[in-house]
Amino acid sequence: MSAQIIDGKAFAAKVRGQVGEHVAALKADHGITPGLAVVLVGEDPASQVYVRSKGKMTNEVGMKSVEHKLDEATSEADLLALIEQLNNDATIHGILVQLPLPKHLDEDLVINSINPAKDVDGFHISNVGLLGTGQKSMVPCTPLGCLMMLRDHHGSLSGMDAVVIGRSNIVGKPMAQLLLGDSCTVTIAHSRTKDLPEVVGRADIVVAAVGRPEMVPGEWIKKGATVIDVGINRIERDGKIKLVGDVDFASCSAVAGAITPVPGGVGPMTIACLLANTVTACCRANGLAEPEGLTA
Ligand code: NDP
Repeated sequence: MSAQIIDGKAFAAKVRGQVGEHVAALKADHGITPGLAVVLVGEDPASQVYVRSKGKMTNEVGMKSVEHKLDEATSEADLLALIEQLNNDATIHGILVQLPLPKHLDEDLVINSINPAKDVDGFHISNVGLLGTGQKSMVPCTPLGCLMMLRDHHGSLSGMDAVVIGRSNIVGKPMAQLLLGDSCTVTIAHSRTKDLPEVVGRADIVVAAVGRPEMVPGEWIKKGATVIDVGINRIERDGKIKLVGDVDFASCSAVAGAITPVPGGVGPMTIACLLANTVTACCRANGLAEPEGLTA
């Protein structure tokens, strides 16, 4: 059997199209343009690439995009002052502080200084608590993208056995909460999990968010399971730099029912969901109906 490929690139383009339609309607019907501010501190090359591509796609869907590039040595007080200014700016509906921050800045303090209603990354402690208690929140973009693809593929996820490998605050834990919210029976695996192959082998849905290249082999996967590969790992193979996920695509796709590729799977959905969250935040801020299908 060869797994169906879940095309994250095409799905993300569809989500961006839906976001663009909502943006156009907000402008035409209410005179409101959703605005996203991205704050980048320092010169981290990967972060610069992400921020550029976020800005480009924000503009493409018709939203206002604001970038604040701050010097590596920016003080915590100056960064907090900028966030306060953005919190009070009525034209900005989403604020994203690109992580990681330079070591001298307290990430938790910085993230928790963002107005939770504008926290489009969903990392503010209030949003974490709201998600954990099944209330309306801003949902972290990567897990939201995974959930959208799973819902699109399966329809209802109710009663399915799901295993999330990885327990980070940005992917693993919110992913597990979302799957629980859709009535999956959820197991969270991590580096201390005993007999990971047996745990993974029970799952109808496997979400791998580990950060270890091609760690999950096809032998672990239950026949017909859906595999969502969050991992982005750069490896050298045959003298070339290659992007691979946390699952071994060749062997897993021979067993799975459906699988996301790397690249072109979860990755493109993350930015699409950031744009979706910004439109959602804008609608909530203005007391308007939220776009359907773009939130958890
Ligand atoms: P973290 O490093 O924060 O977390 C990794 C998790 O994997 C930890 O919970 C760790 O367990 C677990 N783990 C490590 N080794 C093993 C092992 N041998 N067996 C089982 N579990 C293990 O990573 P992130 O969650 O931030 O990211 C995970 C991956 O997803 C990375 O490749 C990252 O690049 C990618 N990513 C992709 C995004 C996208 O847009 N597609 C967005 C964000 C991340 P423990 O807690 O016990 O240490």
